[in-house]
Amino acid sequence: MSISKNLHEVKQTLLDGVTLVAVSKTKPNAAIEEAYAAGQRIFGENKIQEMTDKYESLPKDIEWHMIGHVQRNKVKYMAEYVSLIHGVESLKLVQEINKQAEKHNRTISCLLQLFIAQEDTKFGLDQTELNAIFESEEFAAMKNIEIKGLMAMATFTEDTDEIKKEFCTLKQIFDESKNKYNHLPNVNLEIISMGMSNDYKLAMECGSTMVRIGSSIFGNRNY
Ligand SMILES: *Cc1c(COP(=O)(O)O)cnc(C)c1O
Repeated sequence: MSISKNLHEVKQTLLDGVTLVAVSKTKPNAAIEEAYAAGQRIFGENKIQEMTDKYESLPKDIEWHMIGHVQRNKVKYMAEYVSLIHGVESLKLVQEINKQAEKHNRTISCLLQLFIAQEDTKFGLDQTELNAIFESEEFAAMKNIEIKGLMAMATFTEDTDEIKKEFCTLKQIFDESKNKYNHLPNVNLEIISMGMSNDYKLAMECGSTMVRIGSSIFGNRNY
């Protein structure tokens, strides 16, 4: 199995305008280096410590995306370098990211995570909670954060109709949010992060602009 070959095959299936995040969690630096040599520059990790170790030892033009659940007390470890945080799901977390970004004199780009699945194991906001963040006074005062889009995960199921329904729900919430909130100074909605190895084709049919693909590129993970 060759990572560069897998990467090439995945890229050929992407629709125009869809950005690939190569999900390298649990994989060694050598695997990332192979994808890097094949031209990949965006990598996704779900643990801040692991991502920071990789950031420190790998080329500095890599864009690191945090795709996992983020604990507030760990934001500081990635604030200097993280390029996009996908899983933001509370005002308190947005506040902490803004605060750490300010310390580093930069703006950190984030996606707000929506809950669209039929499972209670997945994190995320509902649309009312999402609107509450956009409309809050606290959010209006934040100068070091930019909300660039929305992220979600579909239910883990074989039922493709259900998966599509969920992805299309995210697309609809994205369109509504863009209409209502894109004029805000710290909102610039352009990214819909949805789709993983097993469901990214369905996600693209529903308007995904960013897919997060791990096992189809790097092989299965052994936890
Ligand atoms: C692990 C992970 C992925 C990639 O999953 P694959 O099935 O390996 O493609 C995508 N998104 C999130 C949030 C993940 O945790």
